Amino acid sequence: MNNDRLEHFRDILNSTLEGLLQDAERTVSGMNRTTDEHFPDPTDRASHETDRNFVLRVKDRERKLVAKVKDALKRIEDGTYGICEECGEPISEKRLAVRPVTTCCVECKKEEEELERQRGA
Ligand SMILES: [Zn+2]
Repeated sequence: MNNDRLEHFRDILNSTLEGLLQDAERTVSGMNRTTDEHFPDPTDRASHETDRNFVLRVKDRERKLVAKVKDALKRIEDGTYGICEECGEPISEKRLAVRPVTTCCVECKKEEEELERQRGA
């Protein structure tokens, strides 16, 4: 992939990362605010717990995505970005445009999904 394209994907990944970190900050400050409140009514307390679990689930997903985005940025640095981890072939830019953090090409992804289906996952 030429440098212009790499820069293009670096921009996308950087702004994705920025957005994720901003969201994470907002979530954390939101959590701190609600934990300070008192819930004398058990029903309120229950729904508060559900909210909290939801927030934690979202945060977990965000954390994983942040790690993926950072990995992708590292691959841009060391020159392996856009190359399939499985077969070493270039990943199509169309696929990267849809999923900039992807590490394998469409063919390998299909194979992987096929294997998962066979295993009944
Ligand atoms: Zn591949």
